[in-house]
Amino acid sequence: MDTVQITLPDGATREVPRGTTPAEVARNISHGLAREALVARADGELVDLSRPIERDTSLAILTAKDPDALQVFRHSAAHLLAAAVLELFPGVKLGIGPPIDYGFFYEFLREQPFTPEDLELIEKKMHELAAQNVPNERKLMPKAEAVEFYRNANQTFKCELVEEKATEPMVSFYTTGKFIDFCLGPHIPSTGKIKAFKLMNVSGAYWKGQESNPQMQRIYGACFFTKEELDEYLHRLEEAKRRDHRRLGTELDLFSIQDEAGPGLIFWHPKGGLVRKVMEDWLRDELLRRGYDLVYTPHIMRLDLWKTSGHTNFYRDNMFGAVEVEKADYQLKPMNCPGHILIYKSRLRSYRELPVRLAELGTVYRYERSGVLHGLLRVRGFTQDDAHIFCMPSQIEAEVEACVDFAFAVMKTFGFSRYQVELSDWDASHPDTYAGSAEDWQRATGALSTTLDRMGVPYKRMEGEAAFYGPKIDVKLIDAIGRPWQLTTVQFDFNLPGRFGLEYVGEDGGRHQPLMVHRALWGSVERFFGILIEHYAGAFPLWLAPVQVAILPVSGKFSEYAAQVSAELKAAGVRVYLDDRNEKLQAKIRDSEMQKIPYMAVVGGKEAEAHTVSVRHHGKGDLGPRPLAQFLTDLSTETAARTDL
Ligand SMILES: [Zn+2]
Ligand SMILES: [Zn+2]
Repeated sequence: MDTVQITLPDGATREVPRGTTPAEVARNISHGLAREALVARADGELVDLSRPIERDTSLAILTAKDPDALQVFRHSAAHLLAAAVLELFPGVKLGIGPPIDYGFFYEFLREQPFTPEDLELIEKKMHELAAQNVPNERKLMPKAEAVEFYRNANQTFKCELVEEKATEPMVSFYTTGKFIDFCLGPHIPSTGKIKAFKLMNVSGAYWKGQESNPQMQRIYGACFFTKEELDEYLHRLEEAKRRDHRRLGTELDLFSIQDEAGPGLIFWHPKGGLVRKVMEDWLRDELLRRGYDLVYTPHIMRLDLWKTSGHTNFYRDNMFGAVEVEKADYQLKPMNCPGHILIYKSRLRSYRELPVRLAELGTVYRYERSGVLHGLLRVRGFTQDDAHIFCMPSQIEAEVEACVDFAFAVMKTFGFSRYQVELSDWDASHPDTYAGSAEDWQRATGALSTTLDRMGVPYKRMEGEAAFYGPKIDVKLIDAIGRPWQLTTVQFDFNLPGRFGLEYVGEDGGRHQPLMVHRALWGSVERFFGILIEHYAGAFPLWLAPVQVAILPVSGKFSEYAAQVSAELKAAGVRVYLDDRNEKLQAKIRDSEMQKIPYMAVVGGKEAEAHTVSVRHHGKGDLGPRPLAQFLTDLSTETAARTDL
């Protein structure tokens, strides 16, 4: 008999008749596997379970546990969506329908917009088709015939896709019942398992992303293997909405973005400004304690400087246009590095001074397209918590360790407990596309990895992901609802020291070039503030809260004692709001809760007599009466601990 050899992931081999399918192999292994199987990986390539095996192959049967299988599953759900739409709206033209990180989309050209009611109908139809467990079948057609087929069906976009994408004489199609789609596949065997999905929204997208092309309607769906996963995703989405910093920014009166001033530019209102002050005070104190020097550099500098740094070349697209003054061009700064370099260069440095660590809360301006601007997270003007370290090669490891330690201090102080670290290395097969020598790269990458190993910090290595001028580590913090946020970067630079001719006098009396590291911990004050708002859902811990205590007199009769409490707290440095409006206590409590003020101090007759306050905590409710002096001590202990009690 004509057989082929299959090698399974555990190394076991099997002889099977040529033409055996992965589905049959799965069945031979176990009924359980056959039931769970979604798709196969043959010699590294994803294939249908029904694709005959024609040669010796290493084969894996993929189930829901495999992330690749999830993508295939979601792609099959996209086909199911298109099948349902075509049944309900036969005239639509089809675009593309790929999987995405939470599900899938399919795009359609249709005169009328899809309404929420349409989405409900479509979702119902999808469930109907899924329940029929319709097989997804692969068919081959000669290319010319495929083009002809789509031309007759008036599917112009599909015609275009076949003409562009089909590289073989035979073109693969997949059918799901009556629905047929030009598609490379693979797909799951049938629709029966697609149960946990929800159509989310419709948005416009130009065909192939080009504005001159017709605008398609993209229907997006969330899709998971199980209902539990889908529910968890939807819950997280709701949480994200509840925590949206743009909404909270207005409700808590923290900041605004004003069209009159321009998009992507942030106005810090008094309460946001107070949080910023507390954040910056902490940071500046830490910088000084950790051996940094604080500097300030101009917001606008000669364009020539940016030519020397190379920014006019590789960073041009992100820069505002130059401004002409007295026949010279000036540039609004997109980065702080050249400024710090000029301070380093302002006199000759000795090895004894190194490392030089220059830190600045440096405001920069970058041109971001209006379409990508997003609240505080993506803006055009922002303040980086930037620093540049100039050091000798022998000092690299200690500096990297200090940066990582600082990053962890930020994480702990601002209430994050989980993180991910990535180390981006160069692509060693193309050394000519990078600045710096192989030795530079090995030494720097070695310092980064040894330091992380020594500190017991797990990390992912990203080969070929580094910028052309040096390797880096990125730290992503995971917030209260599990979202990762890219914050800290420690980035080597083998480019700028050479471009600016930086030097120091070494122990040997000779001139040497220092190493340069760029590092930011928060990234930017704006972005980090946005992340904090979402992380805390606007309920800042006591030390960060713009108003720490609301004093709520039960009635106007006790305004004198309320004022006395307020004065005593203020004198002790507590940020206080005295709510002496002529309102019911319940209304005052409700408003303080809405403003997410950590503590409420209710004062009435009993309290005035005993020199106490009745303490309430945001979210925790009534904590009972407490002597005023005790309350003050408790507040200062909690503030100093900086933890979220
Ligand atoms: Zn497809
Ligand atoms: Zn820099």
